[in-house]
Amino acid sequence: MERMLQLDYRDKIELLVKLIKNSAKTVALTGAGVSTESGIPDFRSRDSGLWNKFRPEEVASIDALKRDPDTFYKYNFKWWQGCLQAQPNETHKALAEMEKKGWLFGVITQNIDGLHQRAGSQKVWEVHGHLRSCRCMKCKKEYDMERLAENYWCHHCGGLLRPNVVLFGDPMPEDYYTAEKVMTGCQLLLVIGSSLQVYPVAGLPYLSRQVAIINYDPTPWDDNAQVVFHHSSSEVLAEVVKQLGDSTGPYFVG
Ligand SMILES: [Zn+2]
Repeated sequence: MERMLQLDYRDKIELLVKLIKNSAKTVALTGAGVSTESGIPDFRSRDSGLWNKFRPEEVASIDALKRDPDTFYKYNFKWWQGCLQAQPNETHKALAEMEKKGWLFGVITQNIDGLHQRAGSQKVWEVHGHLRSCRCMKCKKEYDMERLAENYWCHHCGGLLRPNVVLFGDPMPEDYYTAEKVMTGCQLLLVIGSSLQVYPVAGLPYLSRQVAIINYDPTPWDDNAQVVFHHSSSEVLAEVVKQLGDSTGPYFVG
């Protein structure tokens, strides 16, 4: 990788554009880093401090919810509301644009904020769930997320409501297994804003022929990636979209 280290920013952008143009199937994998510019804190970043104060297993686990719903909702509801009020940023918009032009097959995301869809992405697999709805743990009745703001008991059976996000101690949702299938034949995986530390999602790069990484912090995959940016994903992707211009990719449908 010594040669890669000698590349300057412009060279790396050119290389990334070339990798995208030569790829028959490009998929994006996004993590918390793509939403920080929308004002949503990254719990795992060293700066956020949130998980230094509260251990995630204690405040965002299925056990915590069952043991003490009051505390669970007190700690989690505020940041979920922050997610729901946030607006898509340039990274979300660039990925939506790349999909529209046929350069991107779709987005696998670890984020629960729904910002990819709100930016216009059509194909999104939410491997850690989402905040659009919640469900009764007893009778499985589904409710809008707003219902949790009123109370978190099912009016149908009295059971406890839970969000449709993946909590510590939960099994992976169906979207994760779909995402594994989506990776079939993937030639280029764009890892954006994920430090690739949370398994099984962190194993998805193994399913791609090539990997490009755009993340502020180093990741365990940096040494094996074709190109690595420790840079703002908004800036990198805005430049990529600009250079792709009006050209269309293998998934363009007109
Ligand atoms: Zn119920």
